[in-house]
Amino acid sequence: MLETIDLRKVYPTGDEALTGVSTTVDGNEIVAMIGPSGAGKSTFIRCINRLTEPTDGEIRLDGSELTALGESEMKAARRNIGMVFQEYNLVERLTVMENVLSGRLGYVSNWAALRRKFPPEDVERAYDVLETVGLDGMENKRADELSGGQRQRVGIARAVVQEPKILLADEPTSSLDPESSHAVMELLADIAAEEDIPIIINIHEVPLAVEYADRILGLHDGELVFDGPTDGLDENA
Ligand code: ADP
Ligand code: ADP
Repeated sequence: MLETIDLRKVYPTGDEALTGVSTTVDGNEIVAMIGPSGAGKSTFIRCINRLTEPTDGEIRLDGSELTALGESEMKAARRNIGMVFQEYNLVERLTVMENVLSGRLGYVSNWAALRRKFPPEDVERAYDVLETVGLDGMENKRADELSGGQRQRVGIARAVVQEPKILLADEPTSSLDPESSHAVMELLADIAAEEDIPIIINIHEVPLAVEYADRILGLHDGELVFDGPTDGLDENA
């Protein structure tokens, strides 16, 4: 379970990106965070894994207070938080398998570190996850040989392979055509069920959010202005 309590972020520029966001995300629910550009969606996600330092407030993941952790403890805790990015953030010249396996190492800044021998259980898990995302048989292709939709599947596989307690996806469909966007949302919904973890997805296409999410968080000017189930909401509203 992820809990944010009065999460606040003021950038050094004075921009108040989050004004005090309190919410709880639990079970295997799919939560879509919607709101106009500049609302604070991306800041919210980056604060949770502390790629951005929150100014104030608390973040708890399964009882552990992330905001109280030191830098090295936080590094370890990031293993529990899977991240999916708009631009995939793959290493284009490495293979699908190498990109996926990098998830087993957590954040990697030196890509040479990936040219190592991974334990068999890591490789086995990677093959399982590649099957889940529909890329079995593609493991030896280079990332730069893939379509956008396939690259995003690799990005999702890299996040899932680390066996996270929660998945955070920052605009995962914004670089994709409508067909691939639907496929990625459907895949994320499958993963929430299969891995039994909650997923928070930043998305600006409201119809996609209503179709695939269980719940919507509406952010405006850094403030949570809506928090409710998608049941009964009109996809075309
Ligand atoms: P969204 O993801 O909803 O588009 P962001 O979280 O990217 O919103 O941005 C929220 C606000 O914080 C905006 O006013 C934006 O200009 C500001 N902001 C985002 N990142 C930074 C940064 N690194 N430095 C200063 N201001 C930032
Ligand atoms: P390099 O040192 O090769 O330039 P960087 O550390 O700058 O690589 O990372 C390049 C991009 O990949 C960045 O956008 C970074 O956020 C992303 N990145 C790095 N490691 C990971 C990882 N383990 N999972 C997801 N994205 C990552």
